Amino acid sequence: MNIAAPLQQNLQAVQAAIRQACNRSARSHKDVTLMAVTKYAADADVLALLDTGKISHIGESRVQQAQARWTRPEFAKYPVIKHFIGHLQKNKAAQAAALFDFIDSIDNLQTAQALNLHAAKLGKTLRVLVQIKLTDRESQSGVSLAQAPVLVAQLKALKQLHVCGYMGIAPQTDDTARLRALFKEVKAAFDRDFPAGRERYLSLGMSNDFEVAVEEGSTLPRVGSRLFAPHLEEL
Ligand SMILES: *Cc1c(COP(=O)(O)O)cnc(C)c1O
Repeated sequence: MNIAAPLQQNLQAVQAAIRQACNRSARSHKDVTLMAVTKYAADADVLALLDTGKISHIGESRVQQAQARWTRPEFAKYPVIKHFIGHLQKNKAAQAAALFDFIDSIDNLQTAQALNLHAAKLGKTLRVLVQIKLTDRESQSGVSLAQAPVLVAQLKALKQLHVCGYMGIAPQTDDTARLRALFKEVKAAFDRDFPAGRERYLSLGMSNDFEVAVEEGSTLPRVGSRLFAPHLEEL
């Protein structure tokens, strides 16, 4: 059996859905980059997906697990841009700064300062996104839309960090109108705080809501289960 076949089909389906969402909203699909979220995927499936040559950005949400995977030669040989999308603890900042190109989940200055320090030691510039909190759930990380520009201004003072956008995790709901309204709010803040013409990223949308997110302006949807199903490892 060709293990890559279902993955190829999933990838094609997700890419087609992104194109259709772009068509519906009169956007160019070239302005949207699919991030493959590999956190729950089996190694063989991640490698099969990378072998297609169609994935340039990946996302992981646990530092330790990501390091064990992406430092191995068979993974390291792929020149993919690595995003950290989970909640970053300050004591993991050194490891994260070494492994990742982007930290997409910045929601406090202290962790950013720690990343800045470690990036300086490595002579590296880290791209960072500020995570916006889109739900009332206690467990959800992120800053409010009101706080976001304050944090962005503080991050600009950190020389080894390049702050270039917003990331958000929408509530789990089938209420498309509600999702759309939330995404619109984040998009408006993004346009205000990150002027067009410079390198910038708006990372909204996951397996369940990336089509709406792309219609509303996401440039970096993060898709895991829709790519790797039915090959997901049990948690
Ligand atoms: C796991 C995860 C995703 C991918 O979720 P799916 O629903 O499997 O596509 C996207 N973003 C973040 C921050 C995640 O933790």
